[in-house]
This record gives sequence, structure tokens and C-alpha cells, in this order.
Amino acid sequence: MTGPPTTDGHVDAGHDDTEQTLRHLVAGRWVTGTGADIVDTNPARPSEVVARGQLVGTDEVDTAVAAAAAVSKQWASTPFPERGDVLRRSAEILAARAGDWGRELAREEGKTLAEGVGEVRRAAEVFRFFASESQRPVGEVYASPRRHEQIQLVHRPVGPVAVITPFNFPIAIPAWKIAPALAFGNPVVWKPAADVPLLAMRLAEALVEGGLPDGVLSLLIGDGTAGARLVEHARIERVSFTGSTAVGRALIERCGTLARPIQTEMGGKNAAAVLTDADLDLAVAEVAAGAFRSTGQKCTATSRVVVTDAVADEFVRRLCEHTSALRVGDPVDESVQIGPLVSAQARDRVRDAVDTATQRPAVQLLTGGGAYDDDRAAGAFLAPAVVELGGGDPLWRDEVFGPVLAVRRVPDDHTALELVNDTVYGLSAAVFTDNLRAVTQAVESLDVGILHINSETAGADPHVPFGGSKHSGFGPKEQGRAAREFFTTTTTVYLKP
Ligand code: NAD
Repeated sequence: MTGPPTTDGHVDAGHDDTEQTLRHLVAGRWVTGTGADIVDTNPARPSEVVARGQLVGTDEVDTAVAAAAAVSKQWASTPFPERGDVLRRSAEILAARAGDWGRELAREEGKTLAEGVGEVRRAAEVFRFFASESQRPVGEVYASPRRHEQIQLVHRPVGPVAVITPFNFPIAIPAWKIAPALAFGNPVVWKPAADVPLLAMRLAEALVEGGLPDGVLSLLIGDGTAGARLVEHARIERVSFTGSTAVGRALIERCGTLARPIQTEMGGKNAAAVLTDADLDLAVAEVAAGAFRSTGQKCTATSRVVVTDAVADEFVRRLCEHTSALRVGDPVDESVQIGPLVSAQARDRVRDAVDTATQRPAVQLLTGGGAYDDDRAAGAFLAPAVVELGGGDPLWRDEVFGPVLAVRRVPDDHTALELVNDTVYGLSAAVFTDNLRAVTQAVESLDVGILHINSETAGADPHVPFGGSKHSGFGPKEQGRAAREFFTTTTTVYLKP
């Protein structure tokens, strides 16, 4: 395989904040794209270029798929310790460079430095976990109703897999798709979001340096057009997608027509319910963390909170105090708690959603929501916003994907839990209570993939299944033991000597 991408000939990721050159990894070679120019800027300081290059063209998409198909049998038959070793070595590279690459992540996407470094470390953990998963039994044996017969279920690799990922976790989300796909013996053609291309390149670098054979992973930095072309390829056996519900549903329809299995993790409108007995210090801290960390750009971010009348005044007062005291600024400054949104367009979209909502009489802006007129004015910063509203408002209903939290008061605990379900989404929820009866009701009645009791709506561990219901997820869950279901196919064998 040719060497990793270069910065004017400099091989290695060492962080130096200089402009990087973007490359795609296609059939084992790092190549320049043949698509449109792309300039990747720092959303905290848009005049600062993080990386520059060209988007992928259609030829590279086709070449990458052909390469994946060509190596598919070879990778499938590579003994699992070798596949696991590639993942382990890549995990060590990720862990060793977490400081540098985490900083690049903060500069490219706007997460704080701590979150950026944490995300790269998370990717390393995911790789280690799936290196071990490759040692799992590859099947099950069933009793037969007939004499001298054995029935086996054998898991086998599926072949080339398309992985399409969003901007908001540019290294962790791809890791939790790519690692199981590779561990279970499948080549991957990966199209990340074009907004965060540098971190995508870093993940591919880690795998190349970890010893992944040519063609087993291709990286195509492209927009939706490249993603759409990738999905159409006859040699693609599975599509694993994370992104918005609109794109996910279109892909589900298309894959239905193509009879191609697809797994989608999509949007959310996640609620926290603060019940009457809740520990308010805990609830305020966790709700604010869930709503505003990563500038609210998490699929599992808390974007709604329902609070009972008995504690609402106190909760809302403390929440607003806490929110307005959050330090918003350049995410590479270690004292900063909230960075910019991913781009100026994202900031304008979120600010417009808040401005439009607060013109409606039923919506009251309690804090934040505006851009800054100081040295942050040029960056994609937005003051974290808390609004109070009644039912039926678009801010209650639609995913905003930014630092905006909608609060609604309800008369009692029962109504609070009912309103958690008042959405087409079903990704995550949080309930703050020590009341065992309420916890039991929440577990039984909330239609979400992930439920937190007394902690924020966000959070995912690599060994635990992850995914949503309703319009938030479709197909087998990701991560943990659930991942094998999607990245393998099974043969049922009736075995008679
Ligand atoms: P997006 O849907 O705009 O893009 C996601 C990916 O799909 C990108 O790589 C994009 O280029 C690609 N794409 C766009 N159109 C396509 C098409 N027609 N065919 C194939 N690929 C196409 O999402 P985004 O703005 O990057 O990310 C934010 C969204 O992702 C939010 O809705 C968020 O909730 C969701 N998300 C969900 C999860 C989850 O696990 N449920 C996690 C992270 C983000």
C-alpha cells in the first residue's frame, strides 16, 4: 500500500495546525479526488483553513467498489487473529495520536478539546472491542428432531459493505461501523460527511498503518451524490448509514427496491423527564450536559425537557443560570465548555429556528439563542438557548441539531412520561427520579432505544448495543454483540453423516 496522506511531503499526523492536504484511499492508494474543490475551515475561525483538496469523483467510487469486491474472498478467509491484529494495531495508533487528532477534530468540527481527544480514544476502544469480537464462536448447534443429525447455524461474512457517516462524530461513529465490518470479514467502502474530511483521513491512516491489506478499506470523501452512487453498486451487499432521518428514509426506500439490507441510525428529539422527586442539582447538570455538550450536535442530545409543576420554577431558574454561565469559545482553549457549531450555515439555521419560534406567542425565550458581537462574531458560535413552550410547536417536534432546549411544564409524573413519547423519534430519553414505580413505568412504556435513569440522554459504550426506534433507527442495532447480526449472514446446515 502506498504511504499515508501527506502535508507537503510530511508523513505522519503530528499536530502542527498547518493546512493539510486531503486524499482519498482508493484500492490501496492515496489519491487526489477528481470532484469539486473542498476547503475545510475551522468553524471557530473561518478564515483558518484546516485542510484542502478535491471531492471524490464517480470513477473513484467505482474503482473502490471493484477493489472491495476483488479482495472480498481473501479478507473473508484471512484467519481471525490476523484480522484482529490489524484492529489492535490500529487501536494503538489511534490511542497514541489521540492528543493530536483530538485537537484536529476540535479545529475541524468544533467539539471541545476534551471531547475531541475523548472521541479518538473511543474509536481506539471500539477497535479493541471488535478485535476481541472476531474470536467469538462463528455459529450455534441446534438439537435435531431426527436421529444422527446435527443442525448448525454458521455465520459468514457478507462481502463489500458501504458505510455512510455524518459529520458530528467524525471518528467514533465510523469506527463502530468499520471495526465490526472488518472484524467479521467484510471489506468496507466508506463515505464520510464532506464537512469533516480530515478526521476521516486520520481513521483510514490508522488502519493502513495497522496493516490493513490494499482494497479492504476505501475512503471516499464526497457529498450525497457520491453516497448515492455507492449505494447503487451491485457488488455492495450491505449499507450501514448514520445521518438525518430524511436521508436515511430515502436510502431505506432505495435499498428496499434494490433488495439490499440496510441499517440506519437517524435523527432524534430526545426528552428528559424531571419528575417531582428528582434531585434538581443532578437534573440541572445532566440536562444541560445532554443539551449543550458538542454544541447540541449529538443524535442523542437532550432537546426537550418535561418537568412537573411542583418543581418547575426551581428547575427552570437553576437550568437557565447554569446555561448562561457556560463558557462558549474556541474549543482548543481548555477552559471552554461549548465550541461553535460545525459551520456558519448550521449556526444560521439554528438561530433562525429559534428566532422564528420565539415570534410565536406560545414560545418564550428564557436564555441564549443569539450570536455574539465580540471576538466570536466571525465564528459559528451561538449562545446555548433554553425556551419554554406548549405542545405542537415545531421546536418541540422537529430536530434542530444545535444548542437549543425546549422546556414544557406538566401537571404530574404520569403526564411527563407520556410526553417523552410525544415524537416521531425514538432514540434516547432520560428520567430523573428515585421512584421505583416511575422507573418501572418508564422502562415499560417509553419507546426509545436507549433509556437513562438519572443521567443525561447522551452516552454510548462500545460493548453495548446502540440504536433507536420509530424514525430514529431501522434495521439491526449497532455496537456490542448486536453488530454481528448486520455484518454477517447465516447458513443453516442440516448435517447427517
Ligand atoms: P446527513 O443526513 O446530512 O448526512 C449523513 C451522510 O449521508 C453524509 O455522509 C452525507 O454526505 C450522506 N448523504 C447525503 N445524501 C445522501 C444520499 N442521497 N445518498 C447517500 N448518502 C447521502 O446528516 P449530517 O448532517 O451529516 O448529520 C446529522 C444528522 O445525523 C442528525 O439528524 C443526527 O441526529 C443524525 N445522527 C444520528 C445518529 C444516530 O446514531 N442515530 C448519530 C449521529 C448523527
